[in-house]
Amino acid sequence: MLRRWLPPAVAICLILGYNGATALEHRRMDATTLQPAAAAAPARHRVDADRLFATVRSLSAPEMEGRRTGTPGNHRAQAFILARFRQLGLQPLGAGYEQQFSFVHRSILGTVMPGRPAKLPYPDATNLMAMVRGTAQPDAFVIVSAHYDHLGVRQGRTFPGADDNASGVAAMLETAAYVATHPLRHSVMFIAFDGEEQGLQGSKYFVAHPPVALDRVRLVINLDMVSRSDTATIVASGTSSDPALKELVSKAALGRRLSLAFGHDRPIYLAGGVEDWTNQSDQGPFHDAGVRTLYFGVEDHPDYHQPTDTADRIPRPFFTEVAELVVQTLIEADAL
Ligand SMILES: [Zn+2]
Repeated sequence: MLRRWLPPAVAICLILGYNGATALEHRRMDATTLQPAAAAAPARHRVDADRLFATVRSLSAPEMEGRRTGTPGNHRAQAFILARFRQLGLQPLGAGYEQQFSFVHRSILGTVMPGRPAKLPYPDATNLMAMVRGTAQPDAFVIVSAHYDHLGVRQGRTFPGADDNASGVAAMLETAAYVATHPLRHSVMFIAFDGEEQGLQGSKYFVAHPPVALDRVRLVINLDMVSRSDTATIVASGTSSDPALKELVSKAALGRRLSLAFGHDRPIYLAGGVEDWTNQSDQGPFHDAGVRTLYFGVEDHPDYHQPTDTADRIPRPFFTEVAELVVQTLIEADAL
């Protein structure tokens, strides 16, 4: 008799547990969110906001055709980033800045839907990498990364990917501009990943074929969607199990006019419906390989993966604050 009640009872417990965990995780994130500073921070590094925005506009412009891996638009984005690497005087890691690779994208939809390919080869993918040598510990690296590829053109509609992820690339390039003129103690590597939208392909390849041994990488700071938030909130993910990292980012955020939330980095049985982002962007393969990672990103918005993810929808004050937070986080991380 009792056995009949067991399956529904277990289901009810699971649902209650899931909802409870979700509510608790939201409360935990709200309680630990750092509020914006009342006054502007004195004498901190300021990024070139005009150039930051110009980069996003260029990378999300119609001629970039959504930067899908292997397309002419993606190649134009590469040329843009390479020109900036050279202009900043960044050093290549080997013979050149490029790390070429190929992959096959396996589509679950393609296996069940007629007319959709189950396997799509991408023979022409390229990560772009550059570095600034450290003054005290040149053999130890901090990586700042952002994927530059996006969804391309689908059924005649271009997906410009301004927030996802021209914003991350622009913030990375402003960070590179700072380090190029103020070298840090550690070497800093800047990576623009390709193939992220097809399943983190660029970072997976990099981790499998690193130009320097991964045990020399002290920290990866990955940027993916860092420019838009209705509540002016940026999330630092990867800190829940790393209190020192949380302290470091908190210090970097002092005096910033944005909210800094911590979370999206705990499994479903702890966080319920608050999604774990650890493996949702290019920090994932590094995390899996045992490298310390920090991810900056915003909550999803209605223009996420839509043709309306355009540069004109990015609020200038918030995005500039985030870019400056990234530079300051790197400066704090260099002291480790
Ligand atoms: Zn992205």
